[in-house]
Amino acid sequence: MKAVALVSGGLDSILAMKIIHDMGMEIIPLHIVTPFNESCCSNITLLSELVENQGLKLKTVNAGMDYVEMVKKPKFGYGTAINPCKDCRAYMLRKAKEIMYEEGADFIVTGEVLDQRPMSQNKKAMMVIEKEMGLEGLILRPLSGKILPPTVPEQKGFLDKSKMFDIKGRSRKKQAELARKFGLKEWPNSAGGCLLTDRRFALKLKDLFKHKQSYSIDDISLLKLGRHFRLSEDTKLVAGRNEKENQLLSYYKRFPLLVPDNFNGPTGVLDGNIRLADIAASILYSYSDKVNDPIIKLYTNDTNINIIPAVISREIAKKYQITNF
Ligand code: SF4
Repeated sequence: MKAVALVSGGLDSILAMKIIHDMGMEIIPLHIVTPFNESCCSNITLLSELVENQGLKLKTVNAGMDYVEMVKKPKFGYGTAINPCKDCRAYMLRKAKEIMYEEGADFIVTGEVLDQRPMSQNKKAMMVIEKEMGLEGLILRPLSGKILPPTVPEQKGFLDKSKMFDIKGRSRKKQAELARKFGLKEWPNSAGGCLLTDRRFALKLKDLFKHKQSYSIDDISLLKLGRHFRLSEDTKLVAGRNEKENQLLSYYKRFPLLVPDNFNGPTGVLDGNIRLADIAASILYSYSDKVNDPIIKLYTNDTNINIIPAVISREIAKKYQITNF
């Protein structure tokens, strides 16, 4: 029998994959990268290595704008920030189901642990989501397999429940014991450091949803950089916080760019009305050392002009900042 194992990268999903693989099942390890995973490159490298050590090959799938739309309007609401965890789980299972059919697999493996998250990982919630997804009896959770109802592959005699575990609740003790037993020393962050759980990021994303009717993955990636200032309903300034961010912002060629000409200071991306470039320049200058006769260059697709920024205090500038807390 063949299974798709959803691996977030966290320890639980890696253990679950290994338990079922050790029972002789063919495994397709599936990692879904969302636009909100933070350090996804290093996480994926480490995850690939872990998977390859089991003699398996990681399959990665990028969640696109359909994931962003789900985040905008989740059916089950948000957690502490803008994290729609229940809807996100459903999204991941839907993708896993698609891959299951594509690859001719028979069931799905997850690292879920009974009662680890009171809202989404209690027995009732687990069974409801299975039913809603059309996956009744096809989601195997080996870390809690001994204390969950038998799944289809168990009923058919392909998997032995006694080789699964009875882990329950939030303690990580048993998982740590299992990791030691399996010789695992290092593993990536669960969910790759999901930005949706970050309150500052949540404010920036809510601001984007509120002010832009249509947006792209580019707009989402811009949220990960710099300080964000809302200048008007249709205009936003993003200012670099360091050299690296200044350089990254300069790659966003589709937006007008503001660059200090004769002093060191933040580069700014102006997303919206170019007539607000003067106030944007003043905000950028408020984050710079003061010099005589400062000039900020405004670059657009076809021209560049010099702006002499008016001096405003940092306190005034901060009044425009979206994440001012
Ligand atoms: S923390 Fe992020 S990745 Fe994890 S379930 Fe919630 S929304 Fe999804």
